[in-house]
Amino acid sequence: MDGLLGLLRCPECGDELRLDAASKEEGLLKSACGLWFPVVNGIPRVFVGEMRRVYQTDFADFVARHALSTELGADLSAQTRAKLATRDSFGYEWTHFHQMLPEWEQNAHYYFEPLGGAESLRGQLVLDGGCGKGRHTYYSLRAGARVVAVDFSRAVDVAQSNCSKVDGERLFVQADLMSLPFAASTFDLAYSFGVLHHLPDPEAGFRSVVSRVRPGGRVLVYLYHALEGEPVKQAILRGVNWARTISTRLPHRVLLPLTTVLGVGLYYGVVGPYRVLSKFGPTKQFAESLPLKSYAAYPIHVIINDQFDRFSAPIENRYRRDEVEGWFARAGLGETTVLGGAGWRAAGVRAAR
Ligand SMILES: [Zn+2]
Repeated sequence: MDGLLGLLRCPECGDELRLDAASKEEGLLKSACGLWFPVVNGIPRVFVGEMRRVYQTDFADFVARHALSTELGADLSAQTRAKLATRDSFGYEWTHFHQMLPEWEQNAHYYFEPLGGAESLRGQLVLDGGCGKGRHTYYSLRAGARVVAVDFSRAVDVAQSNCSKVDGERLFVQADLMSLPFAASTFDLAYSFGVLHHLPDPEAGFRSVVSRVRPGGRVLVYLYHALEGEPVKQAILRGVNWARTISTRLPHRVLLPLTTVLGVGLYYGVVGPYRVLSKFGPTKQFAESLPLKSYAAYPIHVIINDQFDRFSAPIENRYRRDEVEGWFARAGLGETTVLGGAGWRAAGVRAAR
């Protein structure tokens, strides 16, 4: 197969995949082991094991059209149920909050800072692990990287559309980070921003991503921090976590108006006062202690989006700096850089064999 499509491997047996395509938009990838994977809207959809349930929920039309059978047992493991609920949550989030904003450019700059900026992606073969609506895929392409962007939700369609106006070689794939359809040591760089902490086994997800990076290649992640040393924010977090026990069970169409009201309230009640108070000497120090101040740089839409994110994602893990460093050490990564701020941005280099 041509270009980046040729990187695809069957997650089950590791074989290269053969493409039977009716058109550029639709086809069937086949593995020697007998598994098949749909290509819909030009995007390969590669799931194995219990996650093949996705073909029944998202691609029933395709399955019927191609006379495929998706026999699966009725019982799913707790881990698969958690992953499917997380997939629904983010699929809903990124198809609702699908817009690209010029402000994401400085956001991308923030995330790529441990690598010395997005410019260092030029010419690299990059894995975007959990691309969501393609915010960072866009800036990776613009920086001159060849990008394979993976997401397990339908957000991958939004990402493909959001990146249609930028040049550069790219492949969007709908797949599970735990069963990535690529051989070991494929990529020069893999990054995963704000994704791993939502998985049932985050460190296993990290190891899965790291394994696809070549020796000497780089890994970059963004993870939520445990807010150590910030008692006020920790108290707020305890309240949020209590509310999450209820909110994560609400239907998304019910949760969305609630979190929209909350986002508007926080924007005018906290971010607004920060903007004013941070301008004056006597009140500046107090202003800098306020939570949510990073939203002052963004339009209101962003804090509304993030409130939905906070209260809808079924799983949320938070980490101390030493825990993040532990992940990198145990995965055989060196030259580790961990930057703080609103969460951890951590980069490392895979040991050359
Ligand atoms: Zn196979």
